Amino acid sequence: MSLDVTRAEPLHDARQRLEHSRTSRLAQLQALDETRQATEDHLLAGQKTAMERVLKEIEEAFARIEDGTYGTCLACGKPLPAERLEILPYTRYCVACQRRSA
Ligand SMILES: [Zn+2]
Repeated sequence: MSLDVTRAEPLHDARQRLEHSRTSRLAQLQALDETRQATEDHLLAGQKTAMERVLKEIEEAFARIEDGTYGTCLACGKPLPAERLEILPYTRYCVACQRRSA
């Protein structure tokens, strides 16, 4: 096993944060599904859609780690601040571009 540590190391944290985000979303989604079977609440359905969207963004972030574009804003191409990636490891846009698109 010859892992390129110097290259893998900075993204190691990102991967872990993404894994963590995904695991917790999946757990929430499962809990939501179980609740929903009992109640059929529209609000819960909305939450589920939002969570599925986040999960999709997490998957996309994993793909960006693979292709080497992780950590840059998809709109302006600037590097995303580390603090932002810590809070939102799957974010696609910097704060300025996020605001513009919202
Ligand atoms: Zn941007």
